[in-house]
Amino acid sequence: MSAMSAAEPYILALANQKGGVGKTTTAVNLAGELASRGQQVLLVDCDPQGNATTSLGVSKRDLRCSTYEVIAGIVGLDRAIRSTGRAGLDLLPANEHLAGAMVELVTAERREWRLADALSQVIGYDWVLLDCPPSLGLLTLNALCAARGVIVPLQCEYLALEGLAQLKGTIDRVRDHLNPRLTIVGVVMTMFDGRTNLAQQVVEEVRRYFPQRIFNTLIPRSVRISEAPSYGRTIAEYDPSSRGARAYAALADEVLRRVDRQAVVQ
Ligand code: ADP
Ligand code: MG
Repeated sequence: MSAMSAAEPYILALANQKGGVGKTTTAVNLAGELASRGQQVLLVDCDPQGNATTSLGVSKRDLRCSTYEVIAGIVGLDRAIRSTGRAGLDLLPANEHLAGAMVELVTAERREWRLADALSQVIGYDWVLLDCPPSLGLLTLNALCAARGVIVPLQCEYLALEGLAQLKGTIDRVRDHLNPRLTIVGVVMTMFDGRTNLAQQVVEEVRRYFPQRIFNTLIPRSVRISEAPSYGRTIAEYDPSSRGARAYAALADEVLRRVDRQAVVQ
């Protein structure tokens, strides 16, 4: 266990209400990269689609304990967390049961804080990564209330910035009214295809909009990245010398530099 893990973990949400922008891919590969650097990492699947769960090779069927049971208060976090078979990387899995939590939570006490309350018990991790669903509903709100930082994956495509004002508005409202410590750690451009002018233009546009926040690392569009989850592997496990693996390694380095661990440890 690394020196940091006795302290409060840094909770980082991967959020964007658009689907298919690379939230899950980034959550899984960043988690894998941080773990391979000796960090203790817990990945929490907050999406009823359970893509982060299957991407790590864990079956969504017959999960006895999942994010749903934890949010609903049926089981404690320690009973629901499972090993992924990788050193330093554990998982709180999810499946479609989590969709039911949305409905139940609407009338629940402290409905925005269910995940934060559960994670306040967590010890032994340096990082908790939250893979959010593609909406700004109550599950994402729970993630934003639990998190210290947010990474926003944006796909390099026309209209990449569309919807970003709404996401930023939600993050600002959460910071103003619920979770004053919340910060945007960065915006990561995914599925970058350097051969097209459009992708370059999109990156320039986002750079103008978020000069401080955009990560230098661009995640390339790569068939290898999209193949890895079907084998239950991270890109580093599936094809360690690929461009995609190198990009996620570089992103992890940037995240480690940007997140001020001292402020967390205090
Ligand atoms: P989200 O979680 O935001 O819905 P995903 O991470 O699931 O997005 O990605 C959507 C789809 O795009 C998935 O099939 C995934 O494998 C694929 N994908 C993600 N990143 C890349 C990439 N860099 N290159 C190619 N395919 C990618
Ligand atoms: Mg996803």
